[in-house]
Amino acid sequence: MAWFRREAAPLSPRPAESRVPEGLWVKCGSCKEILYRKDVLKNLSVCPKCAFHFRISARERLDMLFDGAWEEYDRGLVSSDPLGFRDSRPYSERLRAGKAKTDCLDALVSAVGEMGGRRTVVGAMEYAFIGGSMGVVVGEKVTRCIERALEEKLPLVVVSCSGGARMMEGTLSLMQMAKISAALARLHEAALPFISVLTDPTTGGVTASYAMLGDLNVAEPGALIGFAGPRVIEQTIRQKLPEGFQRSEFLLQHGMIDIVVDRRELKKTLVRSFQLLMG
Ligand SMILES: [Zn+2]
Repeated sequence: MAWFRREAAPLSPRPAESRVPEGLWVKCGSCKEILYRKDVLKNLSVCPKCAFHFRISARERLDMLFDGAWEEYDRGLVSSDPLGFRDSRPYSERLRAGKAKTDCLDALVSAVGEMGGRRTVVGAMEYAFIGGSMGVVVGEKVTRCIERALEEKLPLVVVSCSGGARMMEGTLSLMQMAKISAALARLHEAALPFISVLTDPTTGGVTASYAMLGDLNVAEPGALIGFAGPRVIEQTIRQKLPEGFQRSEFLLQHGMIDIVVDRRELKKTLVRSFQLLMG
């Protein structure tokens, strides 16, 4: 059936390379400066010239946030491919490719460690694993992060980097939105703080559930944050969108998020926030 297929060209990826590429030298996707790779990594993958934030992996994120060693939880959870789904490729093959590429079994790494000397639960999403999409495994892992925080009375951070719900798991991935939101409500009743960190990109079902439910919603500069993509919105409302639409700074101006924080200040900001929220 024609209306069931995408006839127009598929959504084009961002032109700039958003992760720090391999090699000795890298070119900043924003200011085009040629940079020594080691300098960029030392600077937490932020361009030393223009402060462009390269995308980082879940493990890099956890290393950056925790004081020292951290413990990973629920590593063994894998998708059972409940629908036996295939589009241009079987879903099971995409799962295998994601695993080979990232050393993760799904798109979120769940960990507990110390942040500024305080034991904290942190879940970090891995964009390189099927676009950081949220299926049953990500949903379950986030829920277990919340339950672990409840059990041990710990604060929670979830760092989002996701294209949204995982269509290969159909409605089962949409159900995760409700499940996680319900668990977060229990965390709220227990007066334990949840800080949501939104990084480039955070869209779709992830924005529509936990990414926007933080007691504090923190975004990295220049991150694309939204529900539907700008192209879809433009086609629907038949209007040109304003400059910077769906970027962190625009959302801050319009009251959708609480603060935009440079990655080099992120850990300090989170630690200070937990001090204020928990004493
Ligand atoms: Zn730059």
